[in-house]
Amino acid sequence: MLTAQDQQGKSVILYRYPKEQIASFKKKSFYCPVCREKVYIRAGDRMIPHFAHYKKSACKGQMTGEGDVHRQGKMDLFDWLTNQRIPAALEFYLPAIQQRPDILIKWNHRLFSIEYQCSPISREMFLKRTRSYRRLDIIPLWISGSKHILSNYSNKVRLSNYEQYLFYQWNHHSPAVLYFYSPHNKRLTILQQPYALRSVHYGTCRIHPLSHLSFPQLFHITYQSDSWIFSVWKKVKSQFRLHRSNFYVNEDARYRRWLYSMGYHPQHLPSVIHLPTPNHFQLELPPYIWQSRIILSYLHPLSSGMTFTAENVYQVLGRKMLSRKFLPFVRNPFNPIDEYLHLLQLTGHVETIRDGVYRKRKDFQFFHTLDQALAEDEKLLRFLAKMVNRSSRYSNHEQNE
Ligand SMILES: [Zn+2]
Repeated sequence: MLTAQDQQGKSVILYRYPKEQIASFKKKSFYCPVCREKVYIRAGDRMIPHFAHYKKSACKGQMTGEGDVHRQGKMDLFDWLTNQRIPAALEFYLPAIQQRPDILIKWNHRLFSIEYQCSPISREMFLKRTRSYRRLDIIPLWISGSKHILSNYSNKVRLSNYEQYLFYQWNHHSPAVLYFYSPHNKRLTILQQPYALRSVHYGTCRIHPLSHLSFPQLFHITYQSDSWIFSVWKKVKSQFRLHRSNFYVNEDARYRRWLYSMGYHPQHLPSVIHLPTPNHFQLELPPYIWQSRIILSYLHPLSSGMTFTAENVYQVLGRKMLSRKFLPFVRNPFNPIDEYLHLLQLTGHVETIRDGVYRKRKDFQFFHTLDQALAEDEKLLRFLAKMVNRSSRYSNHEQNE
């Protein structure tokens, strides 16, 4: 930990003192604000000076597994906030909930706990901490370590399980975002408008030198055109057709069995299966599974000219396919299924009669050869990129605002 209390109960932020003074501190006594035990100073040429508990300590507030990267990140963020004259406390202990957020700040009449998270945490731990902060009306703001950004694609990030919970949507009109900070290059990255395929998330990454960014800018994020996703998706789709997945999880195996039982192979499927939609990242299952179900089980057997409702489609999917990821900070009223139906309107397969009621307009094209399928996929994705550019986002976001 970077802070402890001196004998007078005053909080001492060790790294803010010059070396010589830290050396003289070694003669003084410091105490952990959580357990009140005496702690000692660890300082050296290659280490960020910090306080540590003695070996036998049973303190619950011990920051186990906290390495220098985490310490440096906390320090950078704390300095960044205090430089903006935002009231901030480092590692402030909240006895009521027995939590010690990395940084507690007050901004815009609200309390925020800033958690710089470099190592994975369990869903239970995440939930427990989130709940306890909320109990005190504190907004937990999680910033992740940046090791998962795949450097050769600035818009492709592999997220570990817990990071997928950390998406924020600050209001109904702003996109979902995820924050990363790297103390190595002092850059804060905001990933916005995510498109997920398992743990890989595609999105617009905006990389800011921390010194050029203000705290309020974390919240003022505007939608970017995301027609680019359709060119990225060309590769995603051909991998799907070619059956190349490194991961072969249960749902995929079940999905393949289901396809084969009906005499289908991914190579033959219509191009409209496995399309990206703005909010599909909120669903547990990848798009090809639920979109295959919509097309193959419902819309393909339906005769052209027949009407159907969005409700019919939800029923075909069932609760399991509609189940959402655990995203406590996303408050999005938009529905990936409706977004998909909107895409099918753009492709001319369905039309809207009135709100929630559709008519099937034409049949779906199945393919005999892989080449034919890939060529049609490319054509479709290029068409959608153009259409989406024209209609801002692909769903009716504007109308809802
Ligand atoms: Zn302690």
